[in-house]
Amino acid sequence: MKKASTSNIVRLSHILEKEYGTISWYPRRNAIDELVYTILSQHTSDINSERAFDNLMSRFDSIEAISNANVSDIEQSIKTAGLHKIKAVRIKEVLNIIHNKIGGFDLSFLSEMPLGDAKSWLKSLPGIGPKTAAIVLCFSFGMPAMPVDTHIYRVSRRLRLIGPKVSADKAHDLMEKIVPPDGIFPFHMYLIQHGRKVCKALKPKCGDCVVALLCPSRLKIS
Ligand code: SF4
Repeated sequence: MKKASTSNIVRLSHILEKEYGTISWYPRRNAIDELVYTILSQHTSDINSERAFDNLMSRFDSIEAISNANVSDIEQSIKTAGLHKIKAVRIKEVLNIIHNKIGGFDLSFLSEMPLGDAKSWLKSLPGIGPKTAAIVLCFSFGMPAMPVDTHIYRVSRRLRLIGPKVSADKAHDLMEKIVPPDGIFPFHMYLIQHGRKVCKALKPKCGDCVVALLCPSRLKIS
């Protein structure tokens, strides 16, 4: 398979920027909140996870209060996220481990670490994989970590930015090698939009696709 080049990525990014508008990085949440939110967002929609996060944060005064709460009380406030029993245990466990490790919940030290070390620190927490680690580092600190969700994984494979046999977990590191660091956040956002609106899982709209001329999958799918 021909390897995706950075110049190809830059070209794709420019086309998608014209289509979806310029997207610049902004800090979405502080890192500990983002970590909790991302646990809630596993296997559910953005709407459900946002509702659960808002409920959780309004039910408890602080992250520290969540870490000290009964699991059953956490469960009650995150029901809309689905898998609430598992997620409640996970959230409490992760918060307690973090508190034991650093004596608080301020994760800003991660932004001073080399990217690989910061990822490893987060991935050492139970249930935290490459996607969650990348979301926290990218969204809270603007670090050049590429979260690969289901849309990005699908679109990247169809565009042959990664090979057909590359796992979703491995895709994070591979994408980071080919996307320019300052372009990772917008490229992540463009690919999500493209996956949701055009390059859909079941019926991609190749006839309406602005990057069709750069897509080796176009003829095979349409
Ligand atoms: S041409 Fe089709 S398969 Fe390729 S990116 Fe566009 S919608 Fe997806």
